[in-house]
Amino acid sequence: MRIVKYPHPALRHISKPLLRVDSGLKAMVRQMLDLMYAQEGVGLAANQVELPYRLIVMNTKSDSAAKEEEHVFINPEITRRKGLEEKEEGCLSFPEINGPVKRSQKITVNAYNLAGQEITWELDGICARVVQHECDHLDGILFIDRLSPANLLAIKQDLLDLEAEFAGDRRLGLIPEDQLITARLNQLELART
Ligand code: ZN
Repeated sequence: MRIVKYPHPALRHISKPLLRVDSGLKAMVRQMLDLMYAQEGVGLAANQVELPYRLIVMNTKSDSAAKEEEHVFINPEITRRKGLEEKEEGCLSFPEINGPVKRSQKITVNAYNLAGQEITWELDGICARVVQHECDHLDGILFIDRLSPANLLAIKQDLLDLEAEFAGDRRLGLIPEDQLITARLNQLELART
């Protein structure tokens, strides 16, 4: 398992709801959390590791020892939103790139946890921001899609650099062609959704 970077097509994949919690899913979540901590992230969505499932993990302290801050959201849905706040955001699929994004200040999110229980969270601050950012991923939406034209222009060269790096990796055979990536995502989807 690895975190894919922009413009990998898995990041534009619209993920499907999971049907069950089992040991396989728990193992995936563990790997996602380990990758997130290794790169000092505060959240990660399943399609960032090429899994086509509605699944996100979060730890706003980015500290594996802070277990009380570690959360898993299965099939999350944001049901209420309140207020608006603009803050600087980054993303593990866009190393070292940041930009200001407007998000709801407070949200209510419904999801299942790893015990298979339905949970309702009322979140604000950084937790609300991370959940909104990660839920966007599940719909194939990236934080750069929510930047103002001026702020998008400010990181244009960084994005072009990532695109060039991706094209180079593909020429080296490190990244398969789009059709193969799509076929693999569809196969994984059949197994669990
Ligand atoms: Zn992200």
